[in-house]
Amino acid sequence: MAYPREGRGDRRPSPPREYTKAVCADCGAECEVPFKPTQGKPVYCRDCYKKHAPPRRESRRSLF
Ligand SMILES: [Zn+2]
Repeated sequence: MAYPREGRGDRRPSPPREYTKAVCADCGAECEVPFKPTQGKPVYCRDCYKKHAPPRRESRRSLF
């Protein structure tokens, strides 16, 4: 496939991110994710995503 190139150095502004509406698998809230949810994989809203994301151990600060 060849794409015709018209206009030299014509930089198109990057298109806005496409958000896909999804339902959070945890709290059931409607949310929009900046990616296409994969079938079979749970989608979480922001809050729940934080909850489910594995805690990073990069920080040296002790939380306890
Ligand atoms: Zn949620």
